[in-house]
Amino acid sequence: MTTQCDVCGAKTNKQTVQASGLAPVSYNVCRQCVEEGAEPIGVVEIWVTLQVNLADETPPLPNLKSYLNGAYIGWDQIRKHVLDHQDEIREMVKVEFGFSSGTVG
Ligand SMILES: [Zn+2]
Repeated sequence: MTTQCDVCGAKTNKQTVQASGLAPVSYNVCRQCVEEGAEPIGVVEIWVTLQVNLADETPPLPNLKSYLNGAYIGWDQIRKHVLDHQDEIREMVKVEFGFSSGTVG
């Protein structure tokens, strides 16, 4: 049986269910994403929006990584992505969790 990696979207028949280091969720992840230590972009977006001061360019976690548009990305690109999509991410957080962040804006 093949499933899809929740981080990079790759079809894989060798997959692991992994708990996120950021939020109380778990997801399917392929072997490469396990090795990269990448978190799904959706989890990263929400966690960063709720927990991180985006004015600070210092990585909130030394090994924070995600996957976006075909490549693994580090903090610089994650921060830029979240800043670029801040409004829609905050709207999603509000819908999902019923509150909005106090750390940004
Ligand atoms: Zn993957």
